[in-house]
Amino acid sequence: MFSTEQVITLFHKLRPDAINSINLIDGLRFEQCGAELNKIRAVIDSHNTKWSNERDEVLNEVYVLNRIVDLLGSYSTTWRNIAEAKFANSWGSLQGTLDHLRSVKKFSNGNCTRIVDFFENQLIELEKLYPYNVFFSMGAKVDWFECSLCGKDIDSLECEHVKGELYRGKLAYGIAKNIGYIDHVGVVKYPADKCCVVQYDDDGSQFQMVRYLSGLLTSRKLKPLSFHHLEFSKRMEKNPEFKKLPRNEICFCGSGKKFKKCCIDKKFVEFDHIDIMPREINANDIFIDTLG
Ligand SMILES: [Zn+2]
Ligand SMILES: [Zn+2]
Repeated sequence: MFSTEQVITLFHKLRPDAINSINLIDGLRFEQCGAELNKIRAVIDSHNTKWSNERDEVLNEVYVLNRIVDLLGSYSTTWRNIAEAKFANSWGSLQGTLDHLRSVKKFSNGNCTRIVDFFENQLIELEKLYPYNVFFSMGAKVDWFECSLCGKDIDSLECEHVKGELYRGKLAYGIAKNIGYIDHVGVVKYPADKCCVVQYDDDGSQFQMVRYLSGLLTSRKLKPLSFHHLEFSKRMEKNPEFKKLPRNEICFCGSGKKFKKCCIDKKFVEFDHIDIMPREINANDIFIDTLG
């Protein structure tokens, strides 16, 4: 994934620490993982200072390296929130992790497939455990967007930068200026910002699937890295509402019909069933094709 000699060498040096940090997440040792990632950040920073006059390619690859560390950081926070039953927060950190992943995917020029594939496959399955399918989208009046690099209006001709592109290891983005009143709030299915959601309480029934996953983690039946995918199926189960009644009596379900013409055959009903399917993975394999 890296093409410049400087960053390839730096990555070789950091690879054991990166693998270690991901193994700490797997062992639910989130505090230690945070410390490990800080160590990695310090090493990258010290090189970055030395390299301020290097070619664009070098600085842009350092940017990707930093996003991988950010990705590991919010990945760790996501699993920590799940393990600690902070489900609403875990959704926010999951979205943050996906944002970092998009940056890594975009700026590593498609060469970082092992890391991207692993996280993308897992995180998209993880999203399915959450109850959010309506989101709020907020619209506000904004006068103009300031370029994060030159400070000029990013949509004007004076700014030479393109939103979302890298320049010498720095991302150009627009900073909203003079935000006015909120002009509308809409309910949408595919929003730009999935953090704008209906809020549920952590102990609500909406989180029952992710709560089940949390239980698997804390009882050590499943490790974070092994969470692989969900399998949805239908199962016949005993209907908890079913009451055996004389055939001509009014049915228990409240339909007003006679039992024999209504729920007589509903002793068993079809339920949605979800299995969490694990797959063992070695942290060494995630970082393997990033050696340059
Ligand atoms: Zn600019
Ligand atoms: Zn009935």
